Amino acid sequence: MRPFLYQRADNIAEAVQAAGNYGRDAPATMAAAQFLAGGTTILDLMKLDVMRPERLVDINRLERTGTRIERRDDTFYLGAFVTMAAAAGHAEIRRNYPVVAQSLDLAASPQIRNMATLGGNVLQRTRCNYFRNPSWGSCNKREPGSGCAALDGVNRRHAVLGVSDHCIAAYPGDFAQALVALDASVEIVGPDRQRVIPFEQLHCLPEDTPHIETVLAPGDLIVAFRLPVAAWTRRSLYLKIRDRQSYEFALASAAVALDLADGKVSEARIALGGVAAKPWRAREAEAALNGRTLDEAAARNAAETAFAAARPHGDNGYKPELGKRTLVRALLQASQLSV
Ligand SMILES: Cc1cc2nc3c(=O)[nH]c(=O)nc-3n(C[C@H](O)[C@H](O)[C@H](O)COP(=O)(O)OP(=O)(O)OC[C@H]3O[C@@H](n4cnc5c(N)ncnc54)[C@H](O)[C@@H]3O)c2cc1C
Ligand code: SF4
Repeated sequence: MRPFLYQRADNIAEAVQAAGNYGRDAPATMAAAQFLAGGTTILDLMKLDVMRPERLVDINRLERTGTRIERRDDTFYLGAFVTMAAAAGHAEIRRNYPVVAQSLDLAASPQIRNMATLGGNVLQRTRCNYFRNPSWGSCNKREPGSGCAALDGVNRRHAVLGVSDHCIAAYPGDFAQALVALDASVEIVGPDRQRVIPFEQLHCLPEDTPHIETVLAPGDLIVAFRLPVAAWTRRSLYLKIRDRQSYEFALASAAVALDLADGKVSEARIALGGVAAKPWRAREAEAALNGRTLDEAAARNAAETAFAAARPHGDNGYKPELGKRTLVRALLQASQLSV
């Protein structure tokens, strides 16, 4: 076991300083100080010797004073320190943001959802086996410049959208797709500044720096997610396709939110999971639907558009078709919802 220092923060300023003052020259994923929320990602990866923080800043006490789940004027706030279970069970979320409740309900297990937080959830790391097993020498995400064992290896679960020649890992989470489909934004408090950015801009494409996964710097703390308050959010859903019915990551998923008027799509928002390097907004597919009646032909046409740039590698050649079928089903189901 590698020794590390454990520090408990009582408030946001203390947490940010404790982590931010401790080595700022690395991307957040490789920073020497990491936050400890539910611990369901970070402790796993420390035990596997994949992440090696020298300091863990426990942020569990922040849940008492931080933003919880609440509406303020025309914005709905989801506190980042709230657990997945608490958010999934919240009556207003279930009623007005079904895509959020479903993405959380379908993730992990009840035990994990009781521990894991919303902030930690969006920052979970890929499940690529070569990343999670340091006995493999080649993984650009774990050891920048070492290569990518998955390119010619076992890659059935890997991504087909947003991939590069340096990394084809899939973003594994579910909740992030719901946030993208709802046009959510994220509040970040850092050692030097606070900011609110569109959630869609939080994650980075792998390109030639797969070890840089987000725009966060060391010490940057996610404190809340902001959702719009609007009637269309009720016509939203999350469809997750996986190898088994529960306790499994997505092979393909779709988060969709539709604004329909007179039977036609006035606005569609689509995010894809399981198939892409980051939570994936399918803007071309959205544009293909706008103004159309949502029947099977329109949904299939949108799905073809969404996967036009797909780049399969070896074992994951099935993913574009699975992803298209997932999206078609999600769109048709969402169009039938009575809201
Ligand atoms: C067996 C298993 C199955 C799973 N299945 C699924 C699944 O199907 N779908 C799914 O979506 N997820 C799944 N997960 C992942 C799980 O949801 C995440 O591990 C969890 O949400 C992470 O939250 P946490 O609070 O435990 O984060 P931690 O483990 O405490 O932290 C994770 C990372 O995020 C950083 N961090 C935490 N909070 C903040 C914050 N507020 N601001 C900035 N940085 C922060 C930490 O520094 C750390 O690097 C699974 C996990 C396991 C172990
Ligand atoms: S796909 Fe990405 S995470 Fe997996 S081995 Fe290649 S570089 Fe590493």
